[in-house]
Amino acid sequence: MKMPEYTSNLVVESNCPYCDKKLDGAYGPGEGPTEGSLSICIGCRNVSVFGEGLVLRKPTKTEMIEEIAGNPEILDIMAQFSQMDEMKSLLNKEESEDEEVCLFGGTD
Ligand SMILES: [Zn+2]
Repeated sequence: MKMPEYTSNLVVESNCPYCDKKLDGAYGPGEGPTEGSLSICIGCRNVSVFGEGLVLRKPTKTEMIEEIAGNPEILDIMAQFSQMDEMKSLLNKEESEDEEVCLFGGTD
């Protein structure tokens, strides 16, 4: 079985319906999102749906239950996000340590 290839697709600019973050890219398999495709906000990690004109909207209760809850693709992407978070927090730690090391003595 061939796994779908994940690509980054530029889409119409749309704001996250949860945190209002401007999103102009989508991450998912295939040629890009279509109406009804799911999107995970890189800011707040909430799942939204591409609605009419590829404008993001909050999913309906039915979509939440039938398409989002337990969706292995969504879970997979969520897992990748948390891995990125871990890596980022490690990097941030190193950066802040570097900053401390790089502090030169100021004026006496
Ligand atoms: Zn968001």
